[in-house]
Amino acid sequence: MFDGDFGNPASTSHVFGWEAEEHVENARVQLAQLIGADPLEIVWTSGATESDNLALKGLAEHFGSGHIVTSAYEHKAVLDTCEYLEKTGIRVTYVKPDTDGLVSPNHVADAIEHDTFVVSIMHVNNEIGVLNDVSSIGQICRDGGVFFHVDAAQSVGKVPVNVDKLNIDMLSISGHKIYGPKGIGALYVRRAGNIPLQAIIHGGGHERGLRSGTLATHQIVGIGAAASICTVELEREATHLRALRERLWAHLRQIPDVHMNGSENQRIPGLINIGFGGVDGETLLMALNDVAVSSGSACTSATVEPSYVLRAIGVADELASASLRFTVGRFTTEEEVDYAATRIADVVHTLRERRTDS
Ligand SMILES: *Cc1c(COP(=O)(O)O)cnc(C)c1O
Repeated sequence: MFDGDFGNPASTSHVFGWEAEEHVENARVQLAQLIGADPLEIVWTSGATESDNLALKGLAEHFGSGHIVTSAYEHKAVLDTCEYLEKTGIRVTYVKPDTDGLVSPNHVADAIEHDTFVVSIMHVNNEIGVLNDVSSIGQICRDGGVFFHVDAAQSVGKVPVNVDKLNIDMLSISGHKIYGPKGIGALYVRRAGNIPLQAIIHGGGHERGLRSGTLATHQIVGIGAAASICTVELEREATHLRALRERLWAHLRQIPDVHMNGSENQRIPGLINIGFGGVDGETLLMALNDVAVSSGSACTSATVEPSYVLRAIGVADELASASLRFTVGRFTTEEEVDYAATRIADVVHTLRERRTDS
């Protein structure tokens, strides 16, 4: 993409428009390839938040009434949308994940009612990194004639995602979670599914009427490039990240009274959430000022309440408050992991000593 590429991809009457459109369509192919979709099934949005809103409100708009099944530890983009829809008369069941952090397909099956029109379950939880069995949940939905939406902001680009193999009807993607630009994302919408999705943003009829507005051409080119890097690098990167994560955990588990939150095995390579018994998470976070970690997700870290995700999987409030989320990424090195682990061990030790002194 060049500075001179100033055309509007929706302008079909001149060459500048055609060139911009070609870049947008190329990116659509790149993103579709990453998830095993057809390019025509990709709807550009401003991010996974908007994609979640479009999937749920867009179906609720069509059905007008009825029931949604989701889980208690979804991202706020799903939870707040569901809460909003409840005010419009839609009923919502929030399935509780098990103590291993996973949503049981059986519990989803049990929650489906006669007028359930959509099930929305995240692929990977953004705070604890566990990987849900969405394939089984998707099969249950298909058998029951219910549409299946998956918030895959944390799984796309990190583990193989194939919308056909996973029985998914709609899938939310975020650009900046795959090393692409912020403010761009997509909703995959299965074409063969006859999904009666209604637009929530009306205007010029872009994106087959599902999302009007001039396309964010530069960001779309960026997410397309990011997606094609993920397609090529995914396997090698997963091996690298898993090794780093295991290295971090091997260090940290030597500290007494530490706990990994969520299943140890069924998770994405680069993310763990760890509770340090008897330590205040916020104090630990402050003391670790040269290590980029967080309590809970970036989106809710302004609050000091224990994480609703950890509460939902049955972690006691005290340990939830003592838990931090660690990620390693494409550019993380072994040296950084070792440094972080040493710093964490030191700080936890110091804080515990201080506690026993007082
Ligand atoms: C980051 C994230 C979102 C929000 O994505 P944006 O592109 O920032 O709107 C939604 N769901 C999950 C699971 C996420 O991790």
